Amino acid sequence: MYSFLTDLECTTCGTRYDADRIMNVCPACGKVLYARYDLAAVKRALTREVIAQRPRGMWRWHELLPVRDAVHVISLGEGDTPLLPAPHLGERIGSKRLSIKEEGLNPTGSFKARGIGAAISRARELGVRTIGMPSAGNAGSALAAYAARGGLQAYVFMPSDAPLMNQLECDVFGARLVLVDGLISDAGRLVRALAPDRGWFDMSTLREPYRAEGKKTLGLELAEQCGWELPGAIVYPTGGGTGIVGMWKAFDELEQLGWIGSKRPKMISVQAEGCAPIVRAYRAGQSSASAWEGATTSAAGIRVPAAIGDYLILDAIRASGGTALTVSDDDIARETREGGRAEGIFFAPEGAATVAGARALLAQGVLQPDEHVVLFNTGSGLIYPELLKVNAPRVDPHASDAVDQAARWVDGIEASSVL
Ligand SMILES: *Cc1c(COP(=O)(O)O)cnc(C)c1O
Ligand SMILES: [Zn+2]
Repeated sequence: MYSFLTDLECTTCGTRYDADRIMNVCPACGKVLYARYDLAAVKRALTREVIAQRPRGMWRWHELLPVRDAVHVISLGEGDTPLLPAPHLGERIGSKRLSIKEEGLNPTGSFKARGIGAAISRARELGVRTIGMPSAGNAGSALAAYAARGGLQAYVFMPSDAPLMNQLECDVFGARLVLVDGLISDAGRLVRALAPDRGWFDMSTLREPYRAEGKKTLGLELAEQCGWELPGAIVYPTGGGTGIVGMWKAFDELEQLGWIGSKRPKMISVQAEGCAPIVRAYRAGQSSASAWEGATTSAAGIRVPAAIGDYLILDAIRASGGTALTVSDDDIARETREGGRAEGIFFAPEGAATVAGARALLAQGVLQPDEHVVLFNTGSGLIYPELLKVNAPRVDPHASDAVDQAARWVDGIEASSVL
């Protein structure tokens, strides 16, 4: 059997629903639905070794993913990104065992490919042909690409100041893009107002059950890449929270399969000072988060003022003994260059936020130098050229002193790079 999906279960009231109907949130209480699987049967049918021998990619975990028939899988080669040891960056921030899960290598340059790839494949299997979705940027790019690949029509509502590359990708992939002079929450309200009349399936973060299933593969891969011994801490840039929630669910399922033990990483949520609803709620001891007013940060992917899965994120942080903290946009800019120079990895601002967060926690002694810390670079820095300026001289090759000019600069650059 390709998938061992059984039904959907409400994360709050526990009501169970037929998984072969198109669903958004729980009809009874409005909260998030989780996909459930016959894990006892998976345990009998599958081993870690069989999965290891399959061709690379997210769908080698298909028993634990929601698509029932392989013909409905819409793939662009997502998943199986490297877990890179980062000794040089580790040395700079005080860790002896730092790794980076490099999600920038996914199709459309971010890990949104996993969640959207799973959700759109399952939606098409259930007969959906048109999708509406608000996006801070990367989810829109992924939706546009997978919709094109699968022959579906996508409508993407994005803040007008979302990264230009995300806007371009939607356009190039043939999605209908609407730019909203506001935040992702404003875009979401527009989608929800239009969707019922237009017959769009609303694919907003955690407002349907399957994007989290795609993001779950982050946790499955990580467990395998760590030799089935989970790291000490996961540092995750948190927006809508599908990744943190998806990984937490993955670990639970892996334990039920007997593939890992009960040990869990500290789940650490990093947000930007200008938009930190989860951090605020965590510090106040609350089990849900109120909406953040006037959200601003250069890290578009975590500019999410309200998350429907807030209670699930806060739960995972607390149950794991993790924490939540903010970093500034200046920290993000500095760590982008620090991480780039140290490891040759072009961090997205969200990924750079995890570097800043880990540095602070190592300095405070919340994280220890010898525990394995995994940072998530959730996207490629290549998506965000507008955030950075090039540090380079210009030389006129026709000037009589062109060679001297160049030499002076070269010497200057060499002198400064020692610092
Ligand atoms: C969407 C996004 C995030 C936030 O992910 P969630 O799982 O929704 O919290 C982080 N980084 C990047 C690059 C993103 O696109
Ligand atoms: Zn419910």
